Amino acid sequence: MYEITRKVCIDAGHRIPDHTSECRNLHGHRYEIHATCQARDLQTSGPERGMVIDFSVVKEELEKQISHLCDHGLIVDADDETMTEMLGIANSDIQWVKEHEAAKAVSNVPGFKVYLVPFPPTCEHLAKHWYAIMSDALKTRTNGHVRAKKIRVYETPNSYADFPSGDLIVDN
Ligand SMILES: [Zn+2]
Repeated sequence: MYEITRKVCIDAGHRIPDHTSECRNLHGHRYEIHATCQARDLQTSGPERGMVIDFSVVKEELEKQISHLCDHGLIVDADDETMTEMLGIANSDIQWVKEHEAAKAVSNVPGFKVYLVPFPPTCEHLAKHWYAIMSDALKTRTNGHVRAKKIRVYETPNSYADFPSGDLIVDN
């Protein structure tokens, strides 16, 4: 098995509505998102010969699926009424996100780029969310040759979350 990792960085704002300390306040991070990809074999022909996948292809997907939607934006929990009311997010958008348990880029809030999500925007949730999206995108793009192994999201230089994790806790 071979494995490569490509990262992108984005700047985005969020708040954790249930937090009892600083994270409750609206604030920003320079997120680093690392996508680790695996393939059983290296490619044997074409411009990617000898590679799992061209780093630029992973970068393209990271930018399309994540940076384009979230960079210089606000990542907002659809259940966070303080934020959705302040931003004037339409009820129909909030309901859509909750019903589909999917994220939605909301483009009609003047002065704000909003990425509405069905979870509190913690590092852990974002890693899981972006893993699902990148996993599908890479599978489709490479006809299943390359699989996303893990997404790592740095919220600060000292703090990151991985999804999926290596399992230490096993359900009985
Ligand atoms: Zn934060």
